[in-house]
Amino acid sequence: MLELSSKVQFVKGVGPRKAEALAAVGITTVSDLLLYLPFRYEDRSRVRSIVDLRPGEDATVLATVVGAHVKRTRRPHFKVLEVMVEDETGSIRTIWFNQEYLKDILKAGRQVLLYGKVELSRRGGGLELKGPQYELVEEGDFEPTHTSRIVPVYERIGPLSPRMLRRICHSLVESLPSEVAGLLPDLSRERHKLPPRREALARAHFPEEGASLELYNQFRAPAQRRLIFEELFLFSLGLGLRRRAASGLTKPRPFPVDDRIRERVRQILPFRLTEAQKKVSKTLADELSSERSMQRLLQGDVGSGKTIVAVIASVIVIENGAQVALMVPTEVLAEQHFSNIQRILAQSGYRVALLTSALNRAERDGLLAEIASGEVHLVVGTHALIQQSVRFKELGLAIVDEQHRFGVLQRAELRAKGYAPDLLVMTATPIPRSLAMALYGDLDHSVLNELPPGRPPVRTLLMKKGQLSEVHRLMEEQVAAGHQVYFVCPMVEESEKMDLKAAVETQRLLQKGPFSHRRVALAHGKLSFAERAQAMSAFTAGEVDILVATTVVEVGVDVPNATLVVVEQAERFGLSQLHQLRGRVGRGTAPSAAVLVYHPPLTPEGERRLEAMAETNDGFVIAERDLDIRGPGDYFGTRQWGAPLFRVADVVRDRELLEVAREEAEALLSSPRTEETDRIVNHVIAAWGEKFGLATAG
Ligand code: ADP
Ligand code: MG
Repeated sequence: MLELSSKVQFVKGVGPRKAEALAAVGITTVSDLLLYLPFRYEDRSRVRSIVDLRPGEDATVLATVVGAHVKRTRRPHFKVLEVMVEDETGSIRTIWFNQEYLKDILKAGRQVLLYGKVELSRRGGGLELKGPQYELVEEGDFEPTHTSRIVPVYERIGPLSPRMLRRICHSLVESLPSEVAGLLPDLSRERHKLPPRREALARAHFPEEGASLELYNQFRAPAQRRLIFEELFLFSLGLGLRRRAASGLTKPRPFPVDDRIRERVRQILPFRLTEAQKKVSKTLADELSSERSMQRLLQGDVGSGKTIVAVIASVIVIENGAQVALMVPTEVLAEQHFSNIQRILAQSGYRVALLTSALNRAERDGLLAEIASGEVHLVVGTHALIQQSVRFKELGLAIVDEQHRFGVLQRAELRAKGYAPDLLVMTATPIPRSLAMALYGDLDHSVLNELPPGRPPVRTLLMKKGQLSEVHRLMEEQVAAGHQVYFVCPMVEESEKMDLKAAVETQRLLQKGPFSHRRVALAHGKLSFAERAQAMSAFTAGEVDILVATTVVEVGVDVPNATLVVVEQAERFGLSQLHQLRGRVGRGTAPSAAVLVYHPPLTPEGERRLEAMAETNDGFVIAERDLDIRGPGDYFGTRQWGAPLFRVADVVRDRELLEVAREEAEALLSSPRTEETDRIVNHVIAAWGEKFGLATAG
């Protein structure tokens, strides 16, 4: 009898070689294999008469083999096996390529179930089945695996074909123990009408008779819902445990706020805070002065003024004698934050430093020494700040900005470095609540839901490629009024060189042509640090009228005098990127606009993205649309996680289930422990502990 924890090579049909292929995709136990669900299902349950078959349809027939023969073709090593089969109503030719061995299986007189696409034979009339799925009909009791039912279709795993996987999973399901311990509390299971675990595992692979194909293909059949729910529940439980563990951490010392510090903060403020900024600052101050470690996410749409909030928190920590690290995703943003923050803190006497790859060896070593000795109060850098051996005298606060590209794992890394600093994660890409839960469910949440006063909303115009002179007119209008313009060229990885050339060429054409009387500069990622810094700071200082740029300006760049952003070939950008680019303007009090220039023909997705942009300025709505159009790739791609996070769940498809699962997990965590809940919690720690750094939380 197999246990769920049994090694997969003990499953019938899996030898050492196949076990190796399975291990390569993370399937080592029976349980792993059971959670490798089909990606779709086919209804092969209706057996058809051969006479009724029509070209183009998928059909199952029950037939007897008449005879088989192998035909050579003109191509060497390419053989075609032809097998004639018949039922009472007629006969049909079936063909297989390079599968000669099948003639020993499909012997004359044998009964077979066949499933495949019916096609018109290319060689003169008649119908044929090309490479159909087949199954020998044996005497005695017979439960068809591959045909004559709703059958599972698996994604191939190395040498394991979908057909092999189907056979293996079938025998696996057949040999499951009669009871499988569930990982959902009985109460939750009943509340959401989910079947027991054993039944769910079996049915998710081999649907019951009369099951709805449609429901299965939407992954909404009870069996699938149960497994998805369970996975999301355990995940939420892991996040919940982690949050509890982390926020329970006592930090080396609290950072209290007294009148002196309040006065210091007042001195550096360059403007009156919005109510939302005040409220969030108060929350941060409370948490910094508490004994327990802060773990907070600050969400605020582009331009809502997150930076000053981060600076206020920094002042509190620095005044208490500890250091602050600010991590950002790009060097451009690091440079910009650095000069911004330096400006805000100019009168404070703090030492603010920038750690970038542009430093030479000696500068870098010098800076690292100053960070280690505590002379540097606040250091800005890319995530190299945590990856390299940067040592602090006392890191009191780690701020992570615009890090929607970083997830749970990177945060675990930070803690693994041995720091237990207060943590503030800021993100401008608002993400739907359910996704925020999955990505940041281990953090407490704050929202800046108010823009600074006097900001007229940015107008968005869609223009076709041919309307260039109109675009130039709009640009000239803004420059003539003393404002500045971003002109963004697309940049995609595959043809970076060409795109770069296009940006260089664009700058030249604009400067030579319609804007010969204006100052047109160029900024892109391939410029040296010094060149780019010069272009950016000239733009910030108002010495440049038009900045031709690639997406280096995408996040965070802040020049309030810029009132127009033109995006060339806007259809090539993602929705959240476009929203970020639009967020570069509308930062002052003058009316601003974004012009999205597109090159027809548009793909359906391209069109939906542009429509969404024209329709709304609301980052949360944009985020929802983005998710619908694009799927979860950018949030949950392997880039963030190293490996896919879920086996059966899909956070986009299953986002409502995630919300419910999370509620159930929270309910469990806040109710008294029982034997049942202990068993589940222990399972979570064993299964997810490593991923979430829960081992220590235990
Ligand atoms: P984001 O949330 O996108 O990071 P920033 O912190 O860059 O936004 O702020 C956007 C712009 O708004 C900056 O120019 C900043 O100086 C300005 N700003 C922020 N808060 C206020 C405020 N309360 N009053 C006036 N201007 C503000
Ligand atoms: Mg910002």
